Amino acid sequence: MNDTATTPADSLRRDQSAAKKLFVGEILEENLFPYPAIRARDREILGTVVEAIDGFLDGKEQDFKHWDRDAHQPEEFIQGLRDMGLFGLIIPEEHGGLGLSNGAYARVLTQTSSHDASVSLTIGAHSSIGMKGILLSGTPEQRAKYLPKLASGEYIAAFCLTESGAGSDAASIRTTAKKNADGTWTLNGEKIWITNGGIAQIYTVFARTEGTDGKITAFIVEAAWPGVSHGAHEDKMGIRASSTTVVSFSDVKIPAENVLGGEGKGFKVAMAILNNGRTGLGGGAVGGMKTLIRLATRQASERRQFGQPIANYGLVREKIAQMMVDCFAAESTVWMLAHYIDSGCDDYATEAAISKVFASDAIQRCGQEALQIAAGNGFMREYPYEQIVRDSRILSIFEGTNEILRLFVGLSGLKDAGGSLSELKAAVDDIFNNPIKGFGMLSGYAGQRLSQATGVGRDRIASRLHADLGEAQKTFEKYALELAKASDYLLRRFGKSVVDRQFELKRVADIAIDLFVGLCTLSRANTLSVDGDPHAAQARSIASVFAQQAKRRMAGNIRRLTKNEDKEIDGIAGFALERGSYPWDVI
Ligand SMILES: Cc1cc2nc3c(=O)[nH]c(=O)nc-3n(C[C@H](O)[C@H](O)[C@H](O)COP(=O)(O)OP(=O)(O)OC[C@H]3O[C@@H](n4cnc5c(N)ncnc54)[C@H](O)[C@@H]3O)c2cc1C
Repeated sequence: MNDTATTPADSLRRDQSAAKKLFVGEILEENLFPYPAIRARDREILGTVVEAIDGFLDGKEQDFKHWDRDAHQPEEFIQGLRDMGLFGLIIPEEHGGLGLSNGAYARVLTQTSSHDASVSLTIGAHSSIGMKGILLSGTPEQRAKYLPKLASGEYIAAFCLTESGAGSDAASIRTTAKKNADGTWTLNGEKIWITNGGIAQIYTVFARTEGTDGKITAFIVEAAWPGVSHGAHEDKMGIRASSTTVVSFSDVKIPAENVLGGEGKGFKVAMAILNNGRTGLGGGAVGGMKTLIRLATRQASERRQFGQPIANYGLVREKIAQMMVDCFAAESTVWMLAHYIDSGCDDYATEAAISKVFASDAIQRCGQEALQIAAGNGFMREYPYEQIVRDSRILSIFEGTNEILRLFVGLSGLKDAGGSLSELKAAVDDIFNNPIKGFGMLSGYAGQRLSQATGVGRDRIASRLHADLGEAQKTFEKYALELAKASDYLLRRFGKSVVDRQFELKRVADIAIDLFVGLCTLSRANTLSVDGDPHAAQARSIASVFAQQAKRRMAGNIRRLTKNEDKEIDGIAGFALERGSYPWDVI
């Protein structure tokens, strides 16, 4: 990020989604160039906060290792996080918080994650999802009552959506809240895998309030109320020190004023929280990648084999370069998303999904490559690699699995490409309101021709970019048009049954991910060049490499829309599923 370049506030199209525009072949320049600068106030505060975080967390490597092994974060340590104000990062100053923007908050999580992922989880589950609902949808009374205590960390918050029968299909939750004659509610049910579940004083709970098919309502529930309890700390693969528990509600009486965001509006509240919170996860992933790059470069320089440092070998250098490309691309995307959120854009759910999918995949690639460079050492628990690999695995599972988010990216883009098709539009909206219903609701409409003008035509980035970025620019211009043609093809070929065409949806989603991430990367490299950043040439090189790699992936995805082995793949899966085992042996 840089100081001087800004996206002029008046040029940003707040009502438009740059990612969705790609599906009609349009590169929404106003929302992509120049790369946004971090705000002056954030920069000022971040300097102090980042320094304080390093001061507090530096030298605790052995503690983090022990807490990982013991699956425990000591209360004195959590008190230290409170004392540093880390529970009040995004709470407005008037309520006792630091009032950081979304971008600055993500940058704080980059710093905590560069030390330990479980620390980020404790802070992140509180701010990104636990109490975000009160910030986004709380009444003035709710904000006044809860935010000051949440800012000081006297209250820690958790987000309670998932149940044993309701994971990705979150709309199928069975926790119920029944309205009583006096206007209060009675809550019954059990939530699983709740981050901060064992240490929270405040839960944002989602419950069904009108029969099994009925609406969902969000509630602010206090842990101290009768009938609220939590289970034991889960024994997890990664982020082991972070508290994850069952949270149970047995005839819990909730006052009427603790409905959050309106009766029956719970799903909207949940999705607004998750979309708005994605920069926290992305910022954390970037922090992990920066640590991995630091570890891998040191290891490669110090470790000698065949008479020289392994850093001299092409296959090691290739891994280090790829980690740099992944980290720069993820960082550029996460802070572009933060800029949209902080600038008051209305429609950023697709960009949020892209940023979450890319950043979570990228850190897992980086973790594997860094571990491979360290090889035997990487496998030993004495070194930090295996913990980072375990810790980062969760990122493609929670806050929406990467599969569900890829389907969302594909469908939300196609919805815009087929804008006038109200049925298709409704189906995509429904994926979040009711995922199962959403995926299936369009059957019966097949056969009708869904010819849609895709707006193919606008294709050039007008901004003058650095000459080194010319090829990358052409790649993204070309493939934005290819994506529009692919979208048109899918809508014509499959009509509304496209919602069930997961192989095809994944391909267009991956093209959109490559395009949006690539354009963020290109924009940032160009702005760094304009600003005379000392490492601008390397940034341009990274942007060009990303574009080349993306071009090969996008070409493959376009080709495989029509030439593929999908039928065989589906058949092999069917065979395995039917048998429930692998049939062959060599004896
Ligand atoms: C450590 C941890 C912390 C968590 N913290 C919280 C928290 O604080 N609050 C909270 O509410 N929840 C939390 N969760 C729950 C988490 O959000 C869910 O695990 C997640 O939503 C996925 O649900 P599931 O695990 O039930 O997987 P499932 O939904 O059963 O999915 C299983 C697999 O099937 C795929 N799949 C499912 N449906 C489809 C479909 N329609 N099309 C294609 N593929 C599909 C999925 O992508 C996945 O690969 C946490 C989970 C963990 C492990």
